[in-house]
Amino acid sequence: MNDIRPIAGSSTALPALADPFGRQISYLRVSVTDRCDFRCVYCMSEHMTFLPKPDLLTLEELDRICTAFVSRGVEKLRITGGEPLVRRDIMTLFRSLSRHLDTGALKELTLTTNGSQLARFANELAGYGIKRINVSLDTLDPAKFKALTRWGDLSKVLAGIDAAQAAGIHVKINAVALKGDNENEIASLMEWAHGRGMDLSLIEVMPLGDVGSERVDQYLPLSLVRAQLAEKYTLEDIDFRTGGPARYVSVKETGGKLGFITPLTHNFCEGCNRVRLTCTGTLYMCLGQEDAADLRGPMRASATNELLYSAMEDAIARKPKGHDFVIDRRTKQPAVGRHMSLTGG
Ligand code: SAM
Ligand code: SF4
Repeated sequence: MNDIRPIAGSSTALPALADPFGRQISYLRVSVTDRCDFRCVYCMSEHMTFLPKPDLLTLEELDRICTAFVSRGVEKLRITGGEPLVRRDIMTLFRSLSRHLDTGALKELTLTTNGSQLARFANELAGYGIKRINVSLDTLDPAKFKALTRWGDLSKVLAGIDAAQAAGIHVKINAVALKGDNENEIASLMEWAHGRGMDLSLIEVMPLGDVGSERVDQYLPLSLVRAQLAEKYTLEDIDFRTGGPARYVSVKETGGKLGFITPLTHNFCEGCNRVRLTCTGTLYMCLGQEDAADLRGPMRASATNELLYSAMEDAIARKPKGHDFVIDRRTKQPAVGRHMSLTGG
């Protein structure tokens, strides 16, 4: 594949995007594929229907939209999915986007991955300026890992984490807190992560998409997890932030940081600085709402970016105040029909 060239009509002097609540949009998360080599029980159903490949934006088009956002004030780009590292030629996109790190327009280029392909790509990613990544890992028990991911192999993920650390990339572990599954393992997962110099963030399961099982059976409130951990560890609230929704504590006994991403027990929307782009060019202004804007049409309609910028501005003007996630026995429907793998977690 050829190099991706800078787009026509881009400029760094354009006004930054801000929503009607005064929140400046500085963070774009991009789902580069809805496909994945795992089928995590809380993310996908066993038999998923994926988007037809021709509907996907090309890597050049993804670069063009990302670049448009960078020129309108986005300073942090997270590549996600689905599993971003299973998209063919994805290194081309990282290489091309890294030019914005070189100019200083972009402060951070990063990714969220299940780690299965990291051993192959860690060195190359480091070479493109990726300094920190999130690896999702919910358990260190190989049999449980297999059961939770349906298709995953824990040893490959661990090898991927080794490779990333060896390449000098700072790894943060993300784990979804799951009732009955990893509930009793969270302390040991934390000790393991902190022992390897990695922070751990815990995530509350969100009601996104039909996954073929009851959300209420998966949902474990992090307020409960925190209270349980506090019986054994000294947790101290700290101001540390990574630009995302996690709130951190330091753990005195391990010397590491533990993050809590709590869309259910503590709504964090007031400080929301991000929007999400799907692999088909749909922009979601909120993970938990259905409203979306098509950017593919305006982008393809012209070789310059005026139409695209105007679609981006209209979209951000509609960014809602927040989401309304509910998980209880009475609420049978997911908050939104689409899966996390489409919008990009
Ligand atoms: N495949 C990559 C991975 O697993 O890291 C990137 C995409 S995945 C959708 C991003 C994150 O979303 C993962 O940490 C995953 O655990 C989380 N996730 C998926 N479905 C979720 C749900 N329903 N509620 C909360 N987190 C979810
Ligand atoms: Fe794939 Fe990530 Fe979803 Fe698991 S959480 S199925 S690894 S996209």
